Amino acid sequence: MSVLVYIDHSDGHIKKSSFEALSYGAAVAKQLGLPAEALLLGTVTDDLSALGKYGVATIQQVNNDSLNHLDAQVQTKVIAEAVQSTGATIVVFSHNQTGKALAPRVAASLKAGLVTGAVALPDTSSGFVVKKSVFSGKAFANVNITSPVKVISLNPNSYKTVAGDDKPASVNLLNIAVEDSRVKVTAVNKVKGEVPLTEADIVVSGGRGLKGPENWGIVEDLAHALHAATACSRPVADSHWRPHHEHVGQTGIQIAPNLYIAIGISGAIQHLAGVNRSKHIVVINKDPEAPFFKAADYGIVGDAFDVVPKLTEEIKKI
Ligand code: FAD
Repeated sequence: MSVLVYIDHSDGHIKKSSFEALSYGAAVAKQLGLPAEALLLGTVTDDLSALGKYGVATIQQVNNDSLNHLDAQVQTKVIAEAVQSTGATIVVFSHNQTGKALAPRVAASLKAGLVTGAVALPDTSSGFVVKKSVFSGKAFANVNITSPVKVISLNPNSYKTVAGDDKPASVNLLNIAVEDSRVKVTAVNKVKGEVPLTEADIVVSGGRGLKGPENWGIVEDLAHALHAATACSRPVADSHWRPHHEHVGQTGIQIAPNLYIAIGISGAIQHLAGVNRSKHIVVINKDPEAPFFKAADYGIVGDAFDVVPKLTEEIKKI
C-alpha cells in the first residue's frame, strides 16, 4: 500500500502544481503510515532525485517519450496499470487541466472513489473524509471515500508546498506497454507571454473598463513589472480585444494565483467563479459600488488610466 502522486510536466519541466500535490501526497502518506511515491509518465530534464525533499522516496517512471503529450485515453491505462503494479491505494493528482482529464478516468477504470478539487488533508478519524470546494468555491463538502483505492485531485494553491530534508529520491522504471495514441501532435504553438496563466503566481487581468484593445499597454506594463501573466474578462475576449486563452471565469480558465489584480472588471459571479480561489485579490475600479470590491482583499477606487501607470512606476522602483 502506498500513496502515488502523479507528476504533471510540460516542456521537460515539472509544473508548480505538482510540488503542491507531492507535498500533499507525502502528508497523506505520513498520516496513514504509508510510503509516498511519485508517478512520472514520459521524461523531464529536471533532476528527479531532488523530488525526495518533498517527501517521496521513489519515483515510478514509465520512460516513454510518447507520454510527454497528454492523451487521456492512453495515459489512463498506463496509470491504472502503474497503480496496480505498485499496489498504491491512494492516487493524487493536481486539479488542473491534466488532472481534470485524468483523475475521473483513472478512478472509473480502477472502480475507485474520487474526490475532485480537494482543499485539505483527509480526516481519517472515522473513515476517509476529504473536504472539497463546491459551487465554484462558494461552499465546501466533506466526502467520505469508502472504496479500497481512492483518487484525489488537489485544488491548486490550497496546500502549501513543503520542501524538507534533501533526501534524494530513487527512480524505478516501470515496464508498462504504452498503446499507440489515436491523437498525433503535429505542432505546438506556444502562447506568447512571460508566464503561463495557470502556473502564474501573479495575474493581472483587465475588463471592459479598459474601453478597448489599444489600452492594454497599461495592463501589460504592470504584468511585466510583476513578472505576472495577463488575463481578461469574457466580454473582452468575446470582443476580440484579447485572445480567448486569457478569458478567466466560469466559462473560461479557472485560476488560483497568489495575487489576482482585476482592473476595470465589475466582478460578476461568472467571473468570480474562475478567480475566487486566488490567495489575494486586488480590485481597481472607478465605481465604489462595483461588486468585485466585496471579494477583494485590497481595493482602489479610481480611474484605471490614472492608477495603473502610477502603480507600475512604484513597483518598478522596488
Ligand atoms: P463590465 O461588467 O462592463 O464592467 C466593467 C467595469 O469597469 C465596471 O465595474 C466599471 O465600473 C469599470 N470601469 C469602467 N471604466 C473604468 C475606468 N476607467 N477605470 C476603472 N474601472 C472602470 N464573464 C467572465 O468574465 N468570465 C466568464 O467565464 C463568464 N462566463 C459567463 C457565463 C454565462 C453563462 C454568462 C451569462 C455570463 C458570463 N460572463 C462571464 C459574463 C459576466 O456575467 C459579465 O458580463 C462579465 O464578467 C463582465 O465583464 P467586465 O467586468 O469586464 O465588464
